Amino acid sequence: EGGSNMAASGTGDPEGLCGVERPGAGGLALLGLAPSAPTCPHGPALLFVKTSQGKEEGRRFYACSACRDRKECNFFQWEDEKVSEARLAAREEYNRNHQPSFTHRQNVERYKNFVLLPLSERRFCQECQQLLFPAEWEKHLHHQFLCDISTAQLKSPSQLLYPLENKKTNAQYLFADRSCKFLLDLIIDLGFRRVLSVGTPRLHEMIQSKASQEEDFRVRSLLLDIDFRYSQFYTEDEFCHYNMFNHYFFGGEAARETCRKFLHQDNGERVIMVTDPPFGGLVGALASSFKKLMAMWRETEKEGYNNQEMPMFWIFPYFFESRILEFFPSFSMMDYQVDYDNHALYKHGKTGRRQSPVRIFTNLPPSVIVLPVEEGYRFCAICQRYVSSGNQHCEICDSCTSKDGRRWKHCVLCKKCVKPSWFHCNNCNCCTLQNHTCEKTDAGCFVCGKAGHKRSTCPSLS
Ligand code: SAH
Ligand code: ZN
Ligand code: ZN
Ligand code: ZN
Ligand code: ZN
Repeated sequence: EGGSNMAASGTGDPEGLCGVERPGAGGLALLGLAPSAPTCPHGPALLFVKTSQGKEEGRRFYACSACRDRKECNFFQWEDEKVSEARLAAREEYNRNHQPSFTHRQNVERYKNFVLLPLSERRFCQECQQLLFPAEWEKHLHHQFLCDISTAQLKSPSQLLYPLENKKTNAQYLFADRSCKFLLDLIIDLGFRRVLSVGTPRLHEMIQSKASQEEDFRVRSLLLDIDFRYSQFYTEDEFCHYNMFNHYFFGGEAARETCRKFLHQDNGERVIMVTDPPFGGLVGALASSFKKLMAMWRETEKEGYNNQEMPMFWIFPYFFESRILEFFPSFSMMDYQVDYDNHALYKHGKTGRRQSPVRIFTNLPPSVIVLPVEEGYRFCAICQRYVSSGNQHCEICDSCTSKDGRRWKHCVLCKKCVKPSWFHCNNCNCCTLQNHTCEKTDAGCFVCGKAGHKRSTCPSLS
């Protein structure tokens, strides 16, 4: 997680996560998906370059697209490395062995049979995260398991499965019910009837369960996610095992076709993509995959769509705003604070309410995104969008400038609004924290805001 502090402070990212792929910042830069990239169990590897300060060209290498933790996938190869036939064969063997024990097809069959079992014979192994048939009990006897798995439990897999918690790779932050409902209501009010849920299992689940319970509920969802555990609960038309960092469909052409069909099936039903990716920092990789999904949507022969973009909600922390806009200039950031059940990144606001740094980025006109007034959002008639109640319209900037919901103040020297806790340092020639060390900005911890340590070692996290 290299990246210079200057690059980081420009985006308001206190930890410099955004610097990861910024060329020239020193550290790691993402070059992207190369046509002849080698593959790991997670699909084609991504090409990176190690840059050292002041040196233009670093050595290029391939690494796993999905796992930033070497313990989860240690795939590594120098770009110019000669790989022997023997090693290639071993790698293929390794990739084969590292696929899930059941295929999606098999899991769908298992589910069909599972629901036929009487309640007393339905078990779920918590250690293997797997539905168990009586014949399999013996093998899992010493594992923790749940009994009497109800239909309701099968319909809310995100509650049944434990959230994956590997911080670097696959931290699953599940929407709080309030935020999930808000998103779904917004989607419905905007007239969408199909949702491509990319890394949003809880939204998908809410849509699926409403669709099965309410007769006049017309919304459909397709979940794309790397978490294969979900294949135990959804058919191939409801879930595709997908890697959003390299646009890889694990289920091959058939799965890709499912996605394509979902995006094209129309009958005047409008599609929106909703995604809530891990914040690891590979914004460039995500953007390139999302552009491919958008292109898939655009392939539809329907006239009039040619110059349009597939409507999208990209849910991500506010300090990534400039990175997202680099790739999607048509997007804007909404003030709505997305809440989670299990998020470590909360700060406690003045009101005692948890302050989430996570926002919705969208290519829909901001004026149509109605935020709940009862939660303190208001409409700014000048900006033509809903903003946080604390977000004051700045006359000089001519916009509502706060990014974090607190009232920001205008600095005449910087010619922009800055965080309330910042002051203008004449030494550094910019606004920054009071207790910074000049030139070497020592931004506070991402989690607790205190200086002296970073998120990874924050005492409040343990
Ligand atoms: N807030 C969402 C969950 C977001 S957590 C909800 O409640 O529905 C991030 C999600 O992205 C997880 O479901 C995780 O499994 C998925 N994910 C992580 N890495 C991924 C990858 N490389 N490709 C696809 N999905 C991924
Ligand atoms: Zn991998
Ligand atoms: Zn305004
Ligand atoms: Zn201002
Ligand atoms: Zn200033």
